[in-house]
Amino acid sequence: MTESSDEELRCIGCGAVIQTTDPKGVGYTPKSALERGLKSHELYCQRCFRLRHYNEIAPVSLTDDDFLRLLNQIGQKDALIVYVVDVFDVSGSLIPGLHRFVGDNPVLLVGNKEDLLPHSLRRSKLTDWVRQQANAAGLRPLDTVLVSGKKRHQIDRLLAKIDHYRKGKDVYVVGVTNVGKSTLINAIISQRSGVKDLITTSRFPGTTLDKIEIPLDDGHKLVDTPGIVHEEQMAHILPAKYLKLVAPQREIKPRTYQLNAGQTLFFGAIARFDYVSGQREGFEAYFDNNLMIHRTKLANADAFYEKHAGELLTPPSKKELQSMPALERHEFAVEEKSDLVIEGLGWVTVPAHSSVVGWAPKGVAVLLRKAMI
Ligand code: GDP
Repeated sequence: MTESSDEELRCIGCGAVIQTTDPKGVGYTPKSALERGLKSHELYCQRCFRLRHYNEIAPVSLTDDDFLRLLNQIGQKDALIVYVVDVFDVSGSLIPGLHRFVGDNPVLLVGNKEDLLPHSLRRSKLTDWVRQQANAAGLRPLDTVLVSGKKRHQIDRLLAKIDHYRKGKDVYVVGVTNVGKSTLINAIISQRSGVKDLITTSRFPGTTLDKIEIPLDDGHKLVDTPGIVHEEQMAHILPAKYLKLVAPQREIKPRTYQLNAGQTLFFGAIARFDYVSGQREGFEAYFDNNLMIHRTKLANADAFYEKHAGELLTPPSKKELQSMPALERHEFAVEEKSDLVIEGLGWVTVPAHSSVVGWAPKGVAVLLRKAMI
């Protein structure tokens, strides 16, 4: 299959060229599914198929070269960059080096999945906080908008801002995989009625990356770029089946624990928090409402995990644990009120002048950030 061939088959979901050889590559489709898809005239790549039918995330890997070429090409455009991050996983959403590539182009920062955060959290405060996180990564967005692609919150406002800031230019929407970019683009498309059938796909020159273009009123276009893989995201370390169990689906209700130094919280068997030293304090845990949290003594925590992981402490199950990387320890001295973040899974608020430890499967980032609240 060559690029310009008429016989080139494309996924009707993402527009990627269908291939049957590299299961991790863009557009992979098993041979059997390809035959079925051709018969039914509904050909999806495996990733889109899973997403549609099982709500399951199947990350595609991009080579570093393709990734750099994509960023370079975007950097050379005279365009508005719409940068989508997941407010529940901001650090996992950051594109390394993006600020160097956007050059002088204006950036509109979009905090997606705002529906996951408690209503009690003031949106103006949250917006400031999301902007600060981007600033810390070297980005200076023109403006920041919170939306929910899934609930279709604030889509009109986002579109108005895009129109305001693009000043007659094209728009490039960028984001790492799993921030909800596809869901958001779908919401935009359906908001702009009549646009649905006009989507065309084409390829970024010199890469295997496909883009989806949505025409705007004045002959310009909104371009959806392929999701960029951020290696440390939970989604790429834990198989989709665990992620479904621990990724929050609805508004998080923080759970409060009064902890003394020397106490531990287990989050299923997937993560752990140790309060090593500090005053007795209230700690708030922001995790999926269904994820079991179990409190125990730090002194016994290792033995407790050894004995109960996969049984009393789930998910994952005992069997699934065998394929999960072992928990790794990350210790922090906390100077000011902060959040201890287990990237993609959630966070615990921690008080100033304390010492804490976060544990997560090896490869998943654990970090301390300025408190959201
Ligand atoms: P992409 O890889 O960035 O294109 O992400 P998707 O659009 O495929 O979404 C990834 C996951 O996030 C899916 O499980 C979606 O259901 C979920 N998701 C997307 N947008 C939202 C949102 O606004 N709120 C919530 N709660 N979940 C969302």
